[in-house]
Amino acid sequence: MNKTIKHLPQVRGDYKFDEPLKKYTWLNVGGPAEVMYLPADIDDLQYFLQNKPQNMPAFVLGSGSNLLVRDGGINGAVIKLENKNFQQWRIDGQKIYCGAGMQNRLLKQILPAHGLGGLEFLCSIPGSLGGAVRSNAGCFGTALSDVLISAKVMNGVGDILQVPAEDFHFAYRHSEFPADWIILELCLQGQLAETAQIEEKIKQNDEYRKTHQPQGIRTAGSTFKNPAGMRAWELIKNAGMAEVKIGGVRMSSQHCNFLENDGTATASQIEELGEKIIAAVKQKYDVILEWEVERVGKDSNGH
Ligand SMILES: Cc1cc2nc3c(=O)[nH]c(=O)nc-3n(C[C@H](O)[C@H](O)[C@H](O)COP(=O)(O)OP(=O)(O)OC[C@H]3O[C@@H](n4cnc5c(N)ncnc54)[C@H](O)[C@@H]3O)c2cc1C
Repeated sequence: MNKTIKHLPQVRGDYKFDEPLKKYTWLNVGGPAEVMYLPADIDDLQYFLQNKPQNMPAFVLGSGSNLLVRDGGINGAVIKLENKNFQQWRIDGQKIYCGAGMQNRLLKQILPAHGLGGLEFLCSIPGSLGGAVRSNAGCFGTALSDVLISAKVMNGVGDILQVPAEDFHFAYRHSEFPADWIILELCLQGQLAETAQIEEKIKQNDEYRKTHQPQGIRTAGSTFKNPAGMRAWELIKNAGMAEVKIGGVRMSSQHCNFLENDGTATASQIEELGEKIIAAVKQKYDVILEWEVERVGKDSNGH
């Protein structure tokens, strides 16, 4: 038995060993998690963090919609807040409290049913509420930072903290909080609105995506952040990289800032394609595109 596995605490949740991560990521690539841990609830997660081997790294996986997991996988524990105990929500006046494991799309039913507007943008972003914090997810002119009041967080040693939004130091597709913090619950500010109005906004946002963005493909959304005052897709197109392809990965013909895996690509091919685009844009415009997709884990050589 692997030494790390032998020293894992007895939890009420589940462990999966050598669990392939490609099935948990939208890009559908990536090697295994040494250990995947699915906590039963907050107390179980706390017990795990307090009793796991001290040198064991832990990474939280949301819905894998903004991740490029490298081919060698992730060392240590990959924590997934999949249990329904991490997906609870409640409304208090114009505020909604959502568990971090809840999918954003569930808000499509909740918001109109409770006449809570202002959060419609979130419904169309793939992924979980917890994942939206890390990248300050946003679209249609609004970002998570515009609506987050505070978050309940567990730090790397199992302490629970209530953190006000300003402590996340949000910027465009960026937040700053310690890598070992696990978001447990978000408190979001909504606004009173008519049900029909909320439903209409959600519908319009969905329709915009259907007509402007590729659907039903293995992607992670925008590959690169828009540099200040510029659009990444335009830079990619004008640098002659819109149709570039390496192995099973290419830029989408519908939106050339979206990567598309035909089902045969490896993580290293995807990363190589991204780096090629960065180099071409740098050469043409002297602008360095920054990855919006988060790259994690080790390559197939273990680096
Ligand atoms: C088709 C498509 C369209 C997209 N459109 C948009 C868009 O319009 N706007 C936008 O901003 N993004 C967009 N994205 C990217 C992605 O959906 C968002 O970044 C999303 O918020 C990621 O959430 P996730 O749960 O999938 O997180 P993951 O991809 O699993 O993880 C992302 C990061 O969040 C961290 N994380 C996840 N959960 C927690 C937690 N509970 N505590 C601490 N850290 C956590 C992970 O460790 C990782 O660092 C799109 C992606 C796709 C595939």
